[in-house]
Amino acid sequence: MRKKIVAGNWKMNKTYEEALSLVSEIDNMVKDEVNGDVTVIVTPPFPYLQSVGKLVQGNDKMHLAAQNVSEYESGAYTGEVSASMLKSVGVEYVIIGHSERRLYHHEDAQTLYKKMKLAIAQGLKPIFCCGEPLEERDADRHFEYVGQQLKDSVSYLSNEEFNQIVVAYEPIWAIGTGKTASSQQAQEMHAYIREQLSRMFDAEAAFNCTILYGGSCNPGNAQELFAQEDIDGGLIGGASLKSRDFTDIIKSF
Ligand code: PEP
Repeated sequence: MRKKIVAGNWKMNKTYEEALSLVSEIDNMVKDEVNGDVTVIVTPPFPYLQSVGKLVQGNDKMHLAAQNVSEYESGAYTGEVSASMLKSVGVEYVIIGHSERRLYHHEDAQTLYKKMKLAIAQGLKPIFCCGEPLEERDADRHFEYVGQQLKDSVSYLSNEEFNQIVVAYEPIWAIGTGKTASSQQAQEMHAYIREQLSRMFDAEAAFNCTILYGGSCNPGNAQELFAQEDIDGGLIGGASLKSRDFTDIIKSF
């Protein structure tokens, strides 16, 4: 059975107080309104992880993720946060390969592979992001581009490691732009990703892999996106900063 997931990526937003009230609101709304079998993930900035984690501890639908993890195990890497540190404060998931990390922090495919391996070894579940820029889609090379991203980072995982990951398809032209991929565009890419994964790993594992859509997902378009055969939920940026919108997206399955 494929896990349904809605994950909110808060990025570099919210003060400590704002973060605590946001998560309390989400926690209450999820308790009151969400009946189905859905995993809700919140991804606050590093300094808030422990406090946010404590607030959602009693809610078995709510889970904690980090926005990044070091590719190194430990040692003299000023400013970095290791997988074991995240694990030790109750983090379960970690976003790896977000286009903003690839673009602004020059994270390459090999680095992303190393991050995934270390994270999995510590018992974390990577949410591996992939997705093409607008010029690749305009040139009709989007399948090739995303296929290569999977090949370069994901294909080196073992079958056991692959079972621990979630994939998020996030077309870069749709992130934070208000321009969503149509449900058809998203579905065909998700089906393609699943097909590629079934060539790299065993077919059952690929079938069971949760593949999220990300890119200007909101309460108005989530239902149609989530109804697609190969779309198992969403990775939500802007709309995850508003408890009402985020909860409405969670209720869109
Ligand atoms: C994201 O950055 O992961 C994202 C999907 O952002 P937004 O929902 O704001 O487009």
